[in-house]
Amino acid sequence: MNFCSQCGQPVSLLVPEGDHLPRHVCTACGTVHYQNPKIVAGCVPEHEGRILLCRRAIEPRRGYWTIPAGFMENGETTQDAARRESIEEALADVEIGSLLAVVHVLHADQVHVMFRARLPKPEFGAGAESLEVMLYDEDSIPWRDIAFRSVEFALRRYLEDRRAGREQHHFTAIDLRPRSAG
Ligand SMILES: [Zn+2]
Repeated sequence: MNFCSQCGQPVSLLVPEGDHLPRHVCTACGTVHYQNPKIVAGCVPEHEGRILLCRRAIEPRRGYWTIPAGFMENGETTQDAARRESIEEALADVEIGSLLAVVHVLHADQVHVMFRARLPKPEFGAGAESLEVMLYDEDSIPWRDIAFRSVEFALRRYLEDRRAGREQHHFTAIDLRPRSAG
């Protein structure tokens, strides 16, 4: 960030009084511009045992497979967001189920919240952000071409729980930040 979104003047990176981290602070109006993690909501839709996956039409990871997921909008719940993303990316109207995984993606400043979901009818297609959308048997999931670690985590936990006949929720953190010298 270089300029204040309130008044257009330059911002400085400094630790405000009483704070403990550097923030972008406006040199003119004094506004402190906090930057916090964004929430991505998604789901693992299942139809008669098969899993719905989307092949990404956009960067990052264009051409790789993912589950329907995307940034939350203001005014919606995580479940609303997961259902909306399924409609947008896979033209699939899913029923959102139990919480599956919370993945802290530290290098991207994101929190991914994944749910189980049911696709009642095998009706789906490629939305604007997808090249193609398919239902996969567990044995044919393209593990080498999964777009993101958080998605692989969610899929693997989903399948493990399904085999065990349980619905647990899982937490993990992924940190691909470069390590500082020393
Ligand atoms: Zn300002």
